Amino acid sequence: MKGSFKLGKIAGIGLFVHWTFSLLLAFIIFINYRSGYKTVQIIWSIAFILSVFVTVILHELGHALTAKKYGIKTKDITLLPIGGLARLEKLPEKPMEELIVAFAGPMVNLLLALLTSFFVSIPENEELLATKLSGGIDAHNFLLNFLIVNIALALFNLIPAFPMDGGRMLRAILAFKFQRHTATKIAARIGQLIAMGFVFIGFFLNPFLIFIGLFVFMGAQMETEYTESKHLLKGYTVRDIVMKKYHSLDANEPIKSAVALLLDSQAKIFLITDLDKPVGTLNKDQIIIALSEKGENTPIANAMNKNLVFLNIETPLEDLFELISHNKSNLILVMENKQLVGTLDTENLLEFILIKEVKQKKVYAS
Ligand code: ZN
Repeated sequence: MKGSFKLGKIAGIGLFVHWTFSLLLAFIIFINYRSGYKTVQIIWSIAFILSVFVTVILHELGHALTAKKYGIKTKDITLLPIGGLARLEKLPEKPMEELIVAFAGPMVNLLLALLTSFFVSIPENEELLATKLSGGIDAHNFLLNFLIVNIALALFNLIPAFPMDGGRMLRAILAFKFQRHTATKIAARIGQLIAMGFVFIGFFLNPFLIFIGLFVFMGAQMETEYTESKHLLKGYTVRDIVMKKYHSLDANEPIKSAVALLLDSQAKIFLITDLDKPVGTLNKDQIIIALSEKGENTPIANAMNKNLVFLNIETPLEDLFELISHNKSNLILVMENKQLVGTLDTENLLEFILIKEVKQKKVYAS
């Protein structure tokens, strides 16, 4: 994520903190200072926030290390002021695996709470508890606060609002009975209802809840669309969308030939060859940049993207999302028996999804 700094590495997973996290610390110091707290107490508050964020890292590691057991790698873990974010390479698709991976996070918080409970005396009644917690965080109530935060984090994450952990667990449980995309739809709708509840309550209680509510609402929407698209692509391969007619240019030709082809055709990305062998790709933006920076007579070889991405024609379309999203403005070369048979870009896949969607709606209507 942009604006993140690397803290280190645990179990091969990069740990990052987003710069906005420093705003949170500044905010805590400010609030404490305004309340007239002494320096010692402000230091306790900061130590507490840091301990909570270590907790958040452990929670995310809970997800990541469990996913690793099922052969799913985690790209990185980033700390944001609103919590942690573990970017898994892909999501576990077997219901049981998703259930366990989702539960592993809150489970870490429950274990931490249990562990802490051995070292604190929990006040017997609410009044005593309130007295002990009043007046900010200090050495006497640090662990008690830590215990409460961990229970709260566990319970909060277990709310069945997809895509929160509890929502993922709900989807996994539904997926034992329904197809994955149907399970996602149901879980997402329930999540969105709860999200609207968050926003509503947020207006009266805590504006932070409005923020969480919107985040959950949009997250549920995105994940439904993603699963829906993936479902539409089931059973199809690259062969179904490959462009067999594609435009190619020679790397030694001047950039003005590319401009002419751009104006003359519908295509926006071209394959570049040298002695009929593919050597690069060239998109509209690269043509414009080369034209303005190097002039119309510069050879295409100086402007092209030399990073070639190959794909086998038998690749299932549902496995294509990652590759396509990493190569948004690039042309992918489709191979069959070590021969170049065509090309593929983001547009091809999106158009295919669109057509399938329209067709499916017609089926429902009839
Ligand atoms: Zn989690």
